Amino acid sequence: MVKICTQCYEINAGGFRCHVCEGKLVHTDSAEARALPESVWKSQRVDYGARRGMIIRILAILFGVGVGLWGMRRSVPLEAPWSTVGFIASIILGFALWRLMHNGADRGVRIWVFHKGKVHKRRLARAMMMSVLPKRRDADPESKAT
Ligand SMILES: [Zn+2]
Repeated sequence: MVKICTQCYEINAGGFRCHVCEGKLVHTDSAEARALPESVWKSQRVDYGARRGMIIRILAILFGVGVGLWGMRRSVPLEAPWSTVGFIASIILGFALWRLMHNGADRGVRIWVFHKGKVHKRRLARAMMMSVLPKRRDADPESKAT
C-alpha cells in the first residue's frame, strides 16, 4: 500500500503519519492525492522510473552474464572448432541480451514516466486553445477601446 504525504509529497509505505514530516498521509489513488499538483506526480514517476530502470539494468547484467556463462560452459565439451565458436557466440549473445535489455529499460522508463505527461499535455493544449480562441474575440473590442 503506497501513501503520499499531503505536506511534503514524500511517498510512504503505508501508515498514517509521514516518516519525514509527520504530515497526514493519503492513498495515492484517493481524490485528495489526485488533487495534488501534477508536478508531484511527475517527480514521483521520475523517481520510480529511475528506480525501475536501475533494477532492469541490473537484471540485464545478471541475465546477460548468466546466459553468456551458461553458453560458454555448454560449448567447452563440444568438438574442436565448435567449442571456440560456441564460446565466442555465447559472449556475443550475452552481450547482445544485456544491450537489448539495457536499451529496453531506458525506453520503457521514458514511456512510463512521460505517458501521463502526454495525456496532461494534450489536455493542456486543448485548454490553451480554448483560452486563446475566446480571447481573440475579446481582444477586438479591447483594442478598439484603447
Ligand atoms: Zn511529509
